Amino acid sequence: MHKCPICDRPIKNIFQNGIVCGKCALSAVDSLGHRVVFFNVSVAGGLTASHYSGSEVISDDSIICFINARKCSGIELRFGGTAILCHALSY
Ligand SMILES: [Zn+2]
Repeated sequence: MHKCPICDRPIKNIFQNGIVCGKCALSAVDSLGHRVVFFNVSVAGGLTASHYSGSEVISDDSIICFINARKCSGIELRFGGTAILCHALSY
């Protein structure tokens, strides 16, 4: 069973090491501490990030984010959708 690298919870239906769970993904922030969420640009793929700064939402293609001060990045899943990959792996 794959485990979330941040909180150690088991994650179902994820087969790539380093993917964080949905709960931890919700606490992802960018380098400025703004909440960041990743989206597919289109059904054909591509990744975009929405940064929530107060009432302002800024979208760009910056994929780097941080969860619990650990460096992560947004990725596209092979079968559609997006996820967050943690770079500082510990198993
Ligand atoms: Zn987690």
